[in-house]
Amino acid sequence: MNKPVLILGGGPAGLTAAHALASIGQKSVLVEKEDRLGGAPILSGYARLVPSREWAKDAIGGMVERVAGNGLVDVRTSMTVKEFSGEPGNFTAKLADDSTIEAGAAVLCTGFTHFDSVSKPEWGFGTYPDVVTTTQVEQMFSSGQGVRCPSDGRKPKRVAILLCVGSRDRQIGREWCSKVCCTVSCNIAMEIREELPDCHVYIYYMDIRTFGLYEDLYYWKSQEEFKVKYIKARIAEVTSDGEKLIVKGEDTLVKRPITIPFDLVVHAIGMDPNVDNMLLSSIFGVELQKHGHIARASTYSAMGATSRPGVFVAGAATGPETIDDSIAQGQGAAMAALAGAPAVKAAAE
Ligand SMILES: Cc1cc2nc3c(=O)[nH]c(=O)nc-3n(C[C@H](O)[C@H](O)[C@H](O)COP(=O)(O)OP(=O)(O)OC[C@H]3O[C@@H](n4cnc5c(N)ncnc54)[C@H](O)[C@@H]3O)c2cc1C
Ligand code: SF4
Repeated sequence: MNKPVLILGGGPAGLTAAHALASIGQKSVLVEKEDRLGGAPILSGYARLVPSREWAKDAIGGMVERVAGNGLVDVRTSMTVKEFSGEPGNFTAKLADDSTIEAGAAVLCTGFTHFDSVSKPEWGFGTYPDVVTTTQVEQMFSSGQGVRCPSDGRKPKRVAILLCVGSRDRQIGREWCSKVCCTVSCNIAMEIREELPDCHVYIYYMDIRTFGLYEDLYYWKSQEEFKVKYIKARIAEVTSDGEKLIVKGEDTLVKRPITIPFDLVVHAIGMDPNVDNMLLSSIFGVELQKHGHIARASTYSAMGATSRPGVFVAGAATGPETIDDSIAQGQGAAMAALAGAPAVKAAAE
């Protein structure tokens, strides 16, 4: 393709798409709205990733380096696309600084938005400083500080991790599983036990979805080697007695009410559709599926195709995805963009 491929979003999916194209000599323009590349793992300061256990700054940082230093990738950070027009092989994108890019195809790798826990007020986030999210715990580890109670900096002796916060919750319109938060929570629980061996860690769950090999590597390992305790429960609320946080609900296995004190409560937050998706849908003329993710065609018929010919999609822009899958999709969409695969009907479901 003579013209470059426009890639929107510099997370794991977009970085992979750019690298895959460069490795076969194809130019791309990578447009990222933030001032840094790396996507959620870098922008939100994740610590050790599952399943590789590599630090995000090394694993994803390495992906950033090989793209940022590549002459075939024109990186534009702190930038967005304002207008997009044309046909496959001959698109024009107008950027926010009013420059224009001629592109043969486009790949949307615009990812997701973290669920905002204040939308679940009964579970204490925003009311009590020691109710935090998995993202905050990741940041505690990646900063080297370790897990502490934000209110006074003490080491917690009892930690509760609440799963499915902002996922699998029809009352607040989240009818999807965020796929990776069970495994991430098992991993965080083990890391807390490793750092603070006297700390008791409890995971409150509806179901455990440590899919595939993660069942053994995270679920069983966290119980058997790290003595993390799992309680199947419906959590009603998180309050405080002035000294401790109090988790109230029902143990749904023994069908008994529970009221348990903790020092730190962690929300395992889900992956919402990117808040920009309505705008992206109108700029790029692509359909969204019913929950607001960018609709993609069945991967059996056309990898990464959207409802618009010549515009492709990869990674968490399409719904909750792991980094591994985002990378695979980024590569697939890059190849589809090069081949100029036609759009087929994108799935609205
Ligand atoms: C707490 C937490 C921990 C996690 N830990 C793991 C883990 O250990 N292992 C794992 O496999 N997965 C993990 N995940 C999932 C992981 O974050 C995603 O799989 C991954 O970030 C998806 O990559 P992506 O490139 O598709 O999207 P993102 O990482 O979301 O990247 C999208 C990029 O697009 C940019 N962008 C967005 N909108 C625009 C726009 N309009 N214009 C230009 N640029 C735009 C964003 O700024 C961002 O840089 C975790 C998720 C959470 C919530
Ligand atoms: S992966 Fe686990 S915590 Fe995340 S939404 Fe699915 S079941 Fe809930």
